[in-house]
Amino acid sequence: MPEETLALVKGGSFLIQETSPEDVFTPEDFTEEHRMIAQTAQQFMENEVLPRIEEMENKEEGINEDLLRKAAEIGLVSAAIPEQYGGAGLDQISTTIVSEKTGLYGSFATTFGAHAGIGTLPIIYFGTEQQKAKYLPRLATAEWIAAYALTEAESGSDALAAKTTAVLSPDGKHYILNGTKMWITNAGFAQVFITFAKVDGEKFSCFIVERNFPGASTGAEEHKMGIRGSSTRTLILENAEVPVENVLGEIGRGHLIAFNILNFGRFKLGASAVSGIKYVTNEAIRYARERHQFGKAIIDFGAIQHKLAEMAVRIFCAESMVYRTVGMIDTAMRSIDQSSPLATTEILKAIEEYAVECSIIKVANSEILDFIVDEAVQIYGGYGYSQDYPVERCYRDARINRIFEGTNEINRLLITGMLLKRAMKGQLPLTAAARNVLNEILSFPSLEEEQNDLLSGERRILTNCKKTLLLAAGVAVQKHRDSISDQQEVLSLLSDLVIAIFAMESMLLRVLKGIARYGASKLEIQIKAVQICVHSALPEVENKAKQILAAVSEGDELRTQLAALRRFTKNTPLNLISLRQAIAQKLKEEGKYFLS
Ligand SMILES: Cc1cc2nc3c(=O)[nH]c(=O)nc-3n(C[C@H](O)[C@H](O)[C@H](O)COP(=O)(O)OP(=O)(O)OC[C@H]3O[C@@H](n4cnc5c(N)ncnc54)[C@H](O)[C@@H]3O)c2cc1C
Repeated sequence: MPEETLALVKGGSFLIQETSPEDVFTPEDFTEEHRMIAQTAQQFMENEVLPRIEEMENKEEGINEDLLRKAAEIGLVSAAIPEQYGGAGLDQISTTIVSEKTGLYGSFATTFGAHAGIGTLPIIYFGTEQQKAKYLPRLATAEWIAAYALTEAESGSDALAAKTTAVLSPDGKHYILNGTKMWITNAGFAQVFITFAKVDGEKFSCFIVERNFPGASTGAEEHKMGIRGSSTRTLILENAEVPVENVLGEIGRGHLIAFNILNFGRFKLGASAVSGIKYVTNEAIRYARERHQFGKAIIDFGAIQHKLAEMAVRIFCAESMVYRTVGMIDTAMRSIDQSSPLATTEILKAIEEYAVECSIIKVANSEILDFIVDEAVQIYGGYGYSQDYPVERCYRDARINRIFEGTNEINRLLITGMLLKRAMKGQLPLTAAARNVLNEILSFPSLEEEQNDLLSGERRILTNCKKTLLLAAGVAVQKHRDSISDQQEVLSLLSDLVIAIFAMESMLLRVLKGIARYGASKLEIQIKAVQICVHSALPEVENKAKQILAAVSEGDELRTQLAALRRFTKNTPLNLISLRQAIAQKLKEEGKYFLS
């Protein structure tokens, strides 16, 4: 639990409110216990998992199970399981730290996340007492391993179109399931499958299916581009007999489980990307210091310094977003009376409240991960293309993250979709905020003197990016009204603006909090990182806003809007090249990522 109490904030409110630095959680706020958990998980990965990568990549059997059981022995697997069911019952921040650290090896992160995350959480949050008592203690020790079976060959993104059926047996004792689930992580060795099927072909519902139930079996291993050390198979249900007491949640309300659990999954995926990007960046720094061309270490070339500095900035950004968000979730969770019969409903409401942030983190961090592995391969040159070096595997392993837990296209649409829905329901005053921006455009520009404090320029850019988003969103919604959900390109561009704002702000607030605590001189490099992030984001925000405005307006109307946009995006550029050089120089001296 963090030592300070953070204010409870509404999900998505960052777009219209100023957040004060004291109200964000940052990795610098970890307690002693959090640091110990981080160290334990890191050591486990380094001592137990990394030495076995080759065997796992070669698909030697039994290793994943063995590693999960070892992780269970030191409490990593059961972090989210309540103590009365044999778990460690840790706070959200601790479970996020575990997800971050287990991300060090993509295959293990996937195996671990499918078991301890999306495979176990449905029982924690939706299980009956009997279901919890039967399954959770076995899942806590990894005696039984869990999987999450939602996708089918014909229904991936459109998960509710599943064809798997469930029909009550004539004696009323079983549901008889028929269908095939596709791409199921851990299917090679899982005993417990959280499985979705439609009762009577209509009511989307969730079932706990055990591997040894009559009629349940799994297919052959898929041959994948990456995460080859993880198991992915079909789950085949041929008149599979599932006892009625294994219905999870209510018949016809399986979507609540599927979507709420995916929110966790998305957030944890973003968290686990953080250790992957630190690892790859450290490998790239090490290689760039050792590799000489033209009589120089390649780290001394500006083009390589540019890459390494950008990688470091993005790590700092990814990490800031993850811990800011878990701080919000943790604060909301701690305000819930866990002994109340309504606790589970409240917990789910808390997670749903931050569904926008969870999707932001999924999209942003999977793309940061891809950017970083790609640049790492480039820094390695031809050797990056060789299986003899780890970056080749990391490059392949990273790619899946933009696809599973909802593709990034779907998550982008969800981000704007959820925000617009909340605005329309009056839950988030986005409409009023957009109206204020439109009024501001019609008034004369204010002649207020600009502040000149440290990072005040970046704060101003952030505020103006929020106004830019509200301008573009306001104009787009006014134009398309009820058919806005059909405008996918516009919605996706708006999502990019939302993501950029959350990214900039999370970094900025983290650094401002750090400056207040340790003084600016201790954070020179982090300040530079924020400047790079904010000043690079601004022209991208401007460009995307222009695309939106040009798609929805024309003539004089468009010209007025573009003039307003210029007002919000006016800025004197900083010398980002020298800022990157300073960061790269320090990366070279330290020999590793050092910003956190
Ligand atoms: C290695 C691996 C492990 C996996 N593990 C699991 C697991 O454990 N459990 C599980 O249930 N599933 C799992 N999946 C499945 C995964 O979640 C799906 O692959 C994913 O949801 C996408 O579905 P799809 O592959 O059918 O693609 P599709 O839905 O067919 O999408 C194809 C393309 O169309 C786009 N698209 C689709 N619909 C829209 C739309 N409405 N608007 C705009 N664009 C759209 C998508 O973004 C994508 O680019 C796994 C997949 C892989 C590859």
